[in-house]
Amino acid sequence: AALVGRRARSWWRWARVVGVVGQFEEDCATPVWKLRQVVDAMVVEMHAGLASDGGSKLKMLLTFVDTLPDGNEDGVYYALDLGGTSCRVLKVQLGGGGSRIINHKVEQQQLPEELVSRTSGEFFDFIALTLKEFIEREENGQVPGSKKELGFTFSFPIRQLSVSSGVLIKWTKGFTSEDVVGKDVSQCLEEAMSKNGLHMQVAALVNDPVGTLAVGHYDDADTVAAVMIGSGTNACYVERSDAIIKYQGLLTDSGFMIVNMEWGNFWSSHLPRTSYDIALDDESPNRNDQGYEKMISGMYLGEIVRRVLCRIAEVSDIFGDPAHHLSVPFILRTPLMAAMHEDVSPDLREVGRILQESLQTSGLSLKAKMIVVRVCDTVTRRAARLAAAGIIGILKKIGRDGRTKGKPRRTVVAIERGLYTNYSMFRVYLNEAITDILGEEIAQNIVIRVSEDGAGIGAALLAAACSSKR
Ligand code: BGC
Repeated sequence: AALVGRRARSWWRWARVVGVVGQFEEDCATPVWKLRQVVDAMVVEMHAGLASDGGSKLKMLLTFVDTLPDGNEDGVYYALDLGGTSCRVLKVQLGGGGSRIINHKVEQQQLPEELVSRTSGEFFDFIALTLKEFIEREENGQVPGSKKELGFTFSFPIRQLSVSSGVLIKWTKGFTSEDVVGKDVSQCLEEAMSKNGLHMQVAALVNDPVGTLAVGHYDDADTVAAVMIGSGTNACYVERSDAIIKYQGLLTDSGFMIVNMEWGNFWSSHLPRTSYDIALDDESPNRNDQGYEKMISGMYLGEIVRRVLCRIAEVSDIFGDPAHHLSVPFILRTPLMAAMHEDVSPDLREVGRILQESLQTSGLSLKAKMIVVRVCDTVTRRAARLAAAGIIGILKKIGRDGRTKGKPRRTVVAIERGLYTNYSMFRVYLNEAITDILGEEIAQNIVIRVSEDGAGIGAALLAAACSSKR
């Protein structure tokens, strides 16, 4: 009788676990018809965002980048790339005369966790000093005496006032330094640099995908858009200036301008949203914002998995001792999630190790580890497929999705940041979804090209292009 009782308890326990996971999978489903709805919703929102400010959750921001580097830029330029979790400083040597980038050097510095909520002064002092120390090392102790031009990549939504200045609209990715919102971030950086003895001026202020697109286009003229998928997510693309209805007064000579979509804030009722996404959003510092980003980007994927595992731990004891750390928000970072998802050992050793070391779970059975991998797979597959739908949305908006008359043209989308480059399953699912949505024949013309350090190098290139125009 005792054995029968144990078996029955075990059966019920697994039935509850499978119930939670099955429901989650159903809520996350992204069949092709749903992805096509997301594509169309993206196109509609792009039109609305271009028609008027506030016309859509997609801000479709003007960048004032209306010419792209052509290879004639030359000289040595520095750039500062401020991302979600790190700050990179770069030195880029340009050859001029149609030649390519001769050389570039990058150094990365993790942003201290407490910096996300510091005052504007402390925040900009930190990045100005990081840049100064790098330049001093590069210039053998000398810092530029006369005003030297800098490319500044700022990976947050900015309302640009010109190609070299812009005010922060809102923070994303967990940043909360309230007194920066509404300020011109180029001016803040210039003040911090000059206070710290570094006399430079921001010649180009760019949102990160804009830098990536500038380099992407420089390397391959078929590049029409750039997508960032790292801690946060965003995209930009080359738009005809007459299609930017809200800025009709600002028609450009070149006839185009790069538009920063701020697609992390895209929203549509067609997005497959679960109770876990709703809870994550409710507890975030930017509630009701960045809905698409919260389903797609690196800052959130591990956290969604953690929330599902936490629910499983509530209905069963498959994670062992309840002293585990599963209830600590953001403890399961996305790189760990990727490592578990990609564990190919027959006994899922890596999954066991990560869960034990990071989450203090104990004595996990193989079946329990398989459940964890299944949850990681569901979260990543949904993220990658939704990102793919976003990319096709952009291509559809500009008539590059192979549905317009004539021969389909080769179209390149530059993509950058860790989630795509370091997480192979994410990459596989994204590419697979592009083929699912467009069909094999058309998808062959779409090239997703990985860019490395493009966000920063592009800012240096644009700084060079802007200074040569002056
Ligand atoms: C920001 C964007 C940025 C993206 C990728 C988002 O959270 O709003 O401006 O481009 O992250 O870094």
